[in-house]
Parts: sequence; C-alpha cells; structure tokens
Amino acid sequence: MAAFNVDEIGRVTGGSIANRAGSDFTGVATDSRTIRAGNLFVAIAGERFDGHNFIEQAVLNGAAGVLISRTGLNIPANVSVIAVPDTLKAYQAIAAWHRAKFTIPLVAVTGSNGKTTTKDFTAAVLASRFSVLKTQANYNNEIGLPFTLLQLASGHQAAVVEMGMRGLGEIRELAFLARPTIGIVTNVGETHLELLGSLDNIAAAKAELVEAIPADGVVILNADNDYVRAMQSKSSARVVFYGIQHPCQVRAANIISKGGGTVFDCVWEQTGFTVEIPAVGRHNVYNALAAIAAGLELGLSTAEIKAGLTLFTPGAMRLSMEKLGKYHIINDAYNASPMSMAAAIDTLKEVAPGRRIAVLGDMLELGAIAVDAHCEAGRKLAESGVDIVVTIGPLAAHIAQTARLHGVAAARVCDSHQQAAEYLRAILKPEDTILLKGSRGMKMEKILEKLS
Ligand code: ATP
Ligand code: MG
Repeated sequence: MAAFNVDEIGRVTGGSIANRAGSDFTGVATDSRTIRAGNLFVAIAGERFDGHNFIEQAVLNGAAGVLISRTGLNIPANVSVIAVPDTLKAYQAIAAWHRAKFTIPLVAVTGSNGKTTTKDFTAAVLASRFSVLKTQANYNNEIGLPFTLLQLASGHQAAVVEMGMRGLGEIRELAFLARPTIGIVTNVGETHLELLGSLDNIAAAKAELVEAIPADGVVILNADNDYVRAMQSKSSARVVFYGIQHPCQVRAANIISKGGGTVFDCVWEQTGFTVEIPAVGRHNVYNALAAIAAGLELGLSTAEIKAGLTLFTPGAMRLSMEKLGKYHIINDAYNASPMSMAAAIDTLKEVAPGRRIAVLGDMLELGAIAVDAHCEAGRKLAESGVDIVVTIGPLAAHIAQTARLHGVAAARVCDSHQQAAEYLRAILKPEDTILLKGSRGMKMEKILEKLS
C-alpha cells in the first residue's frame, strides 16, 4: 500500500491534528486485528462494533496514528491523532483522494444479481493483459469500496469494483468515491424489494451508476432486461449492449452446456469467436458477456479474452458444481431472489444427468410479493419437470405446495435442515442432482454437512 502523510490526511479529511508523533503512515486500515505496522487506524462505528473501542489493540498491533471522532480517549504520545466529526466520511474521503491519483480504467459493476460473478469474470478477462485490482469477496458497500480503493498501488493497470446498495443514493455516493470509467449494470430484479419499495426504485438506484459515468467513459448494459435497457437514456457516455435475445453489440449464440462449463459463440461487430467458460447456467453467459464487452472496450484481443475467461472461478456457493459421494450438487446456497431462483431452476434442468431434486429455503426481504414469488418458483419447478422438491421455512413451503398442485408428486415441506437431510437420505439414488438454494439467512449449505 502507498504511503500517506499526516498533513495530507488532515487536509483531505478536514480534520485537526491533535497529536503529531510522526509524519507518514504505511497505509490506512479499519480492522485492528489485521492492521500492519505503521498504518493509520480509522476508528469506524459499525452496527455491532465501534472502532474506538479497539484503539488499544490497533496500537499494540503497530498503528502509527489514529483517526477518531470521540474525545476523552487514552492514546499513547507516540501515536499521531487526527480528529474529525465523522470517521466513516473521513475514511471515504481518503479513499476517493487516493483513487484520484490513478489514471487507470476502473470498471464498476452493479445490478440486482450477479455483481460478484460479473466482477470476477471481468477481472479474469482484464488480467490477461493488465495487472488488475478487484474487490475481494463481496466488499461492495460504503466501507468495502473505500477499502478496495485504498489497495490501489502504482503497479495496477486496471481495477474492477462491485457496488451494492440498500437504498436510493448509495450507488451515487460509491461512484463519487470510485470515479468509474466503465459501468456495468447486470440486471434489475426483486432483490431488496422490501427496502426499495418497487422495481422502479431499484432501477433508479442502479441507474445512478450509469449517470455517474463521464462522457468519455463507457456504459455496458444488459439488453435483455427491460429496466436495464431503458437506462441508455440516462447515459452521457457511449452505451454498449450485451445479451442473447435483443439486438446488441456483444451477443451470445449457440449456447451449449458442456461438462461443468458452457460453450458459446460471441458475435461481435462483423465477426465472432467461440468461448468456453468454466461455469454453468444461462445467466453466467450474461455475466461473461459483460466481461467480454469490457475486455473489447479496453482493447483486448479475442485470444486474450478467451484465455482470461477460462481462469474464472465461481465464488463459493454460487451455482458451483460439486460432488457428494454418488450425488451431483448444484450449490447455489449463497443467496436467493426470484430472478436468481428462476436462473437456478433453469440450470438444474439443463445440467442434471439423472433425477432432479430441488432443496430450497425461503427467499427473504421480498415484502408484499413474498408469497406470490414462492408460488411462482413452485410453478416453474413443475414446468421444468423437477422430480422432487424439498423445502425449509414458512415461505418456501409455498414452493412445495404449489409444485404439488402443478403435478410434482414428491414435494415435501420440512421443519429443519436435519429433517430435510433425513428425508433426502431415505430417497436419494446414485446420479441424482440436488440444487441447494435459499436466502443467506437460511444457510442451506448446512444440508450438505448433515448429508455427508
Ligand atoms: P450480492 O447482492 O449478495 O452481492 P451479487 O449481485 O454479487 O449478490 P452473485 O454473488 O454473483 O450476485 O450471485 C448471487 C446469486 O445470484 C447466486 O445464486 C447466483 O447463482 C445468482 N446469479 C448470478 N448471476 C446472475 C444473473 N446474471 N442473473 C440471475 N442470477 C444470477
Ligand atoms: Mg456480491
């Protein structure tokens, strides 16, 4: 990490230097456990912890300075102290100022579903030419994004960051910090519907990224999502569409699922090239297309793009194909919303060699549409010819009931992971494929522990 000077930090944050023990910091950190020697420790108050209570630990672990908003703290004299009214805002200001030192392409990804996957695909593609910094794991919020920006160092030639939101105005603020040159919007669906109130609001929140891309930047949009396609009108930058159905500049055709991966032709300008991705599911074709579009925009050759895509690895529990003894597992237990549930059901249909079993938990945070959305999943399962449905949770019970109503004879409602695992043990046959999915709060992966 780069060096930060105490006077610069004071100036950038508008803070007052209450004690000056040294002049430079080796980096900026908010976690007192992982802080490095010489770092500036920023004490942020989160939902559960207040960083001000960990100053002693941060200093013990080598902090050379602390940035605080509380008074009356006992801080050793050999530690610099910068006082500000709001430490989170100060942290963000330092990150934005640091980011502005770099004139590299910065790709920001938002959308209701597939942000992390698209971010990872894009970073994999760009890494075939550039040294790339990317958001680690899912650090996509007002603390995680500054954390990522602060990792920018002189060797980096491109960055790919994820932007999440839980309300209007948040993406605008994140974009203000990150100053993306390329913006990708994956889709608009019913994720966080309870918080945002309507799909129109969700679309407006995601469109804040489009509005933030400067005129000389590029906006990459999913042509097959109506809400995303309409965002073109909000862009002052050039728009590149990707998709499968609607007319677009970067299109996938001849999609075939092969082993644990997918092969498709990417149609671009007057030519085309065949790509192979180590991921299943139609929606991963979309995620890969967005990455391809970013690669093409940044001048990568089709050979570089193809090579980069093969190095993608799916994030944990995101439609990852696993084996459990004689059974195939599609582990999509990371999270669930109506859109990703539909995608997962399609994938189960597409890849299962034998019987198809869906083991599903509640989709949470859906507000008024919750019951309907679960019934819809039950209908879709029946239509797709699933053999067995097992559910956990009061909302997911509607999935089983609706599936049964539409002709799935084996649809079972369970009270617990244990009960579901016992039922599965009794009925499973070799070569069965089990789709595991539910909201994060449902921890559907626990079934695997109980089954093995
Ligand atoms: P979060 O909001 O939790 O950060 P995310 O937008 O980063 O989620 P991912 O972590 O990439 O999304 O994937 C979350 C879930 O959505 C997984 O179940 C995954 O299989 C599914 N998914 C991924 N891409 C898409 C897509 N393009 N359309 C629909 N569902 C998708
Ligand atoms: Mg994510």
